[in-house]
Amino acid sequence: MPKKVEKESVCTYCGVGCDIVGVVQEQEIKKIYAKKDGVVSQGKLCIKGKYGFDFVHSRDRIKSPLIKKSFLEKNPKLKEKYQEKLAEFNKDYFTSSLEIATSIVADKLKQIIQKYSPKSFCAIGGARSNCESAYLLQKFCRKTIGSPHIDNCARVCHSPSLKGMKETIGEGAATNPYNDIYESEFLLVIGSNTMEAHPIIANRIVDSARQNNNLAVIDVRPTRLAKLARYNCIIPFESNLLILNAMAYVILNEELYDKEFIATRTKGFREYKDSILNDPYANPEIFKKIEGYEYLAKMVPKIAREYALKKSMILWGLGVTEHIDGSYAVMALANLALLTGNIGKSGAGLMPLRGQNNVQGACDMGCLPYYDPDYQTPKEIGLMTPELIDAMLEGKIKALYNMGEDIAHIHPNQNKVQKALKNLELIVVQELFMTEIAKKADIVFGVKSAYEKVGVYVNAMRRLHLSQPLIESDLPDDWEILKMIDNKLGGDFDYKSSEDVWDEVRKVAHRRFSGAKYYRLKRHRKRGMQWPIYYEDTPILHLLDFRTKDGLGNFIYNQWKKRGMVKEILNKEFKTKKHYYLTTGRTLAHYNNSAQTKRSSKLNDKYDGDILLAPATDKDIFGDFVVLKSIYGESEVLKVKYLEEMKPKTLFCTFHHAKSKINYLFGDESDELVKTACFKSIKVEVIPVSGGMEFS
Ligand code: SF4
Repeated sequence: MPKKVEKESVCTYCGVGCDIVGVVQEQEIKKIYAKKDGVVSQGKLCIKGKYGFDFVHSRDRIKSPLIKKSFLEKNPKLKEKYQEKLAEFNKDYFTSSLEIATSIVADKLKQIIQKYSPKSFCAIGGARSNCESAYLLQKFCRKTIGSPHIDNCARVCHSPSLKGMKETIGEGAATNPYNDIYESEFLLVIGSNTMEAHPIIANRIVDSARQNNNLAVIDVRPTRLAKLARYNCIIPFESNLLILNAMAYVILNEELYDKEFIATRTKGFREYKDSILNDPYANPEIFKKIEGYEYLAKMVPKIAREYALKKSMILWGLGVTEHIDGSYAVMALANLALLTGNIGKSGAGLMPLRGQNNVQGACDMGCLPYYDPDYQTPKEIGLMTPELIDAMLEGKIKALYNMGEDIAHIHPNQNKVQKALKNLELIVVQELFMTEIAKKADIVFGVKSAYEKVGVYVNAMRRLHLSQPLIESDLPDDWEILKMIDNKLGGDFDYKSSEDVWDEVRKVAHRRFSGAKYYRLKRHRKRGMQWPIYYEDTPILHLLDFRTKDGLGNFIYNQWKKRGMVKEILNKEFKTKKHYYLTTGRTLAHYNNSAQTKRSSKLNDKYDGDILLAPATDKDIFGDFVVLKSIYGESEVLKVKYLEEMKPKTLFCTFHHAKSKINYLFGDESDELVKTACFKSIKVEVIPVSGGMEFS
């Protein structure tokens, strides 16, 4: 019997970035576990990390390039040129060697660039690609093609965290390591279902809350974490900024702020203080008028006082960012930290809970239309994904290069996205499986999965982890396909390995990565290293100065605007309105578009469809199955589960399964500064479906 081998690497799923050990026998992953002394995992993995590896060996992996027959019908010259080199795959696709498929892509790109312009090309990367491939995708887009239109799926998650933190403290990244949660005297978790979305970070919060009774959870619905909280603060939809400004009001009004910190490390305090104390929406007295939420008038000041007077940390998720005022709410969080000196020291700070395993890294690599690698200003600023969708509809964008991102599933306004994609002359996708966007693609490349390759991932605490393959694979790495196409377009990519690409990253993005050589990342694989990395790494940011131009933290005040649920309650219209408010999020067993997790029966068997959570008081009205309808579209039939603790007219649904069409409900409403979709609040009608009809 061949021996079992153990290899250390990093989990491919969420932004926590747990260290894993793969037990491999004859090129098959038998088990994944975490060592007791794992710095991130602390010896525990969630069910995704533990059981979510069946996808690697799945029979429906894309094993060879696929070229859509209908694409060649529309491109007769390409068909004539390459026909003899193509082999039948099935009724819709040909297959070919990598050499031929990359040549077809290069030929078509040449035509498009010549006929239209380089700017008719755009690239969208996924935040699960490693840094090397993310770096090369933006370089391919900007340099090989000459288009500024590069983006990544941070657009639908934490772009407002980057924006809000950059403007106030100069750096869009977590300030402290996870283990500082244990050092903290008070923890404020807002807009995060941490136990399901970031479970291994949640373990630390749970330990601390059980021991110290020091947790406040702010959300629109009850979460499992909130059950352990000293302050379980359920708020109306779209009121994050209202709550955070009210906290600041209390701290200012009761003079609980850190005068010395403000004097030596910040600017703009006077204007900020005046604006907030004169803002009628910042005074927590307003909550007395919000029927059903009157308790916030007492609870919010209590949270504010504890936060100000203790060594406190704030952790947040997409419940903060996926709103019209997501960036402003992040600025409000930073304001609180600046006000109280709860930043730039151990046990305090700001912790955006990044969703995907390399969303921090993809942004660091410059997969954003307004940042080059290392957050430098690009020669030309490109369009953000929602603007690209509009440009596709207008006929300005003709080619989409999509690497590890399912724009045809996880983006909002899917009716519009589907129309826009039809307007393109070329869609190229690099993927593991036939996801929704892969089905739309003209050419699909199957690539190595995270467990089959070498590469750097940056987790939610800026920690670099160099992955190593658990098993071998003949498939190309993402960056290798980009290199081949670049060379066929006359480019000069001459990388021989991932390390070659990374060595260039260390030069181009030297402010953060210059000291992160592969050999050091290997040597410190267990501990990991947090950027910026020179000779040493940097576990805590902003110890002496903020990373702004003058080193000072900026107070930036944004007033909450009366709207949505609060407006309806204040105007006494809430009870008479027919619609409900829907928020969306993850479940523990699945990840993003579930392309990987649904291939593990241990994960998928119980959660093979999206489930709607609704208030128990609505059970007699809705029944077991419903369809949701918004002004933008309709979901498929959803199974309903009822919870006693849900506030009236509050709904929650997961979005992992394309078949439930949840993202057809959302429109173009998005963050005012960076266009992150408002996935956390949409008005919907609930239509009961009689007869228990279940979709297949
Ligand atoms: S918490 Fe995230 S990184 Fe850790 S095992 Fe679970 S999915 Fe993987």
